[in-house]
Amino acid sequence: MIKSLRGMNDILSEDYERFTYFIDVASDVAKKYGFHFIETPLLEETALFKRSVGESSDIVGKEMYQFTDKGENDVCLRPEGTAGVVRAFIQKKLDKAGGIHRFFYYGSMFRYERPQKGRLRQFHQFGVESFGVDSVYEDSIMIMMCADILERCGIGYRLQINSLGDSNCMPQYRDNLVSFVKNCEDEICEDCKRRLDTNPIRVLDCKNDKCQKLYENAPKLINSLCDGCESDFTKLKKVLDDNGINYEIDTNLVRGLDYYSKTAFEFVSDNIGSQSAIAGGGRYDRLVEFLDGKPTPAVGFAMGIERLMELIVMPESSRDGYYIGAMDEETVDLVISLAHKKRKTDKVTIDYKAKNFKNHIKGADKANAKYFCLIGSNEIDSGEITIKNLDDKTEETIKIETF
Ligand SMILES: [Zn+2]
Ligand SMILES: [Zn+2]
Repeated sequence: MIKSLRGMNDILSEDYERFTYFIDVASDVAKKYGFHFIETPLLEETALFKRSVGESSDIVGKEMYQFTDKGENDVCLRPEGTAGVVRAFIQKKLDKAGGIHRFFYYGSMFRYERPQKGRLRQFHQFGVESFGVDSVYEDSIMIMMCADILERCGIGYRLQINSLGDSNCMPQYRDNLVSFVKNCEDEICEDCKRRLDTNPIRVLDCKNDKCQKLYENAPKLINSLCDGCESDFTKLKKVLDDNGINYEIDTNLVRGLDYYSKTAFEFVSDNIGSQSAIAGGGRYDRLVEFLDGKPTPAVGFAMGIERLMELIVMPESSRDGYYIGAMDEETVDLVISLAHKKRKTDKVTIDYKAKNFKNHIKGADKANAKYFCLIGSNEIDSGEITIKNLDDKTEETIKIETF
C-alpha cells in the first residue's frame, strides 16, 4: 500500500470542517478590513527565499525543499508566504504604481523538518500583507485583525509586542549588544556564538536557559529607540489600549533580518504546550527594496493553521442544507429532480436507494443536513411534503411544486 510522505497529512472529514471554517472566518475578517485574496505559486526560484528569508536562517540553511527541475532551474517549494507575495507585488509593478495594496493568502508551505507533534513538512498558513502605508496605525490594524480572527474562532491568546527600531537606532543598539555579549562569550551556547557573527540580535530569543540568564542585563532595544520609533511605539500602545486589546511588552521578541523594523508582534497560546506562537508579524519596510523593488513600507502577519486547529471552537450547530430521501423505488427519480432544482440555491444530500425513515435520518445526520424530507407514495398522492428542521425540530408542510 502506498502511504502519504512523512510529515504530510491528508485533511478530510472533521478536520476539513475545522480547516474550512477557519479559512472562511479568516478570509471574511480580512475582507472586512479591505484586503484582497492573492494566490502565488507553490514553487519559486530558490534565490527568492535565500534573499528574503535569509541565508543564515534555519529555514534556508537546512529546511528547504530545494531541487533542480528538468530545465536545470534551482527551485524550491515555498517555506513561507511573504516572499512570494512581495515578488508578485514587484513583478506586477505595484511598487512603481504607488498607492496602498492589501492582500491575504492561505495555502500549503513546505519545510523539510524532522516531523514531530505540531510540525509537519507540508503545513498551512493564513497570512496578510499590506504595502504602501508608512503609518503605525496600519500596524495596529494588523494586530486588531489578527485578534478578530482568533476571537471569532473562540481562541484565547496573549499578545506580545516589541519595537525593533529602524536604520536610525538599530545599528547603534546592535553594536552595544555585541559588546555586551562579547563580555560573556565564553559562557554562551554554540548557537549564540554563531549568531554573534551572522545575526547577533537573534541571541536574545535563544531558548537556552543559561544564555537567557546571561542576557537578563543586556541592553534593551526598547530603551535605545530613536524619537521616531519611540513615538510610533507609544502610538501603537495607545491604539491597542483604546480598543481593549491587552498586550505584554516582550523585549526579547526579535527578528533577525535587516529588513524588519519597528513593530513586531506575536500571539501566543498557553493551551498547546508551553507558550506556542500561533500568529506572528510585524513591519518589514525594507524587504521590497531587498528584492529589487522600489522602497515601499510594508507590514504583515501569518498564522499557522495546524497549530490553531485543536483550539478552534466550532459553532454549536453547523447543520446546513437539505436531505431528501425516497421511501420507495418509484420516487427516487422525483428525489433526484427536486434535488437538482434545490441545488441552485442550497446544499442537498440524497441517497439513490429507497430506505425507511430510520435509515434516512442516519443519512441526514451523517450529511449534517439542517432540513429533512421524505418522499413516498403518500406525498405523491397528496402533492405535499413535510420539511423537518433538524435543529429546532419544527415542521412545515408545503406543495411539492413550490419546493
Ligand atoms: Zn544561546
Ligand atoms: Zn529608530
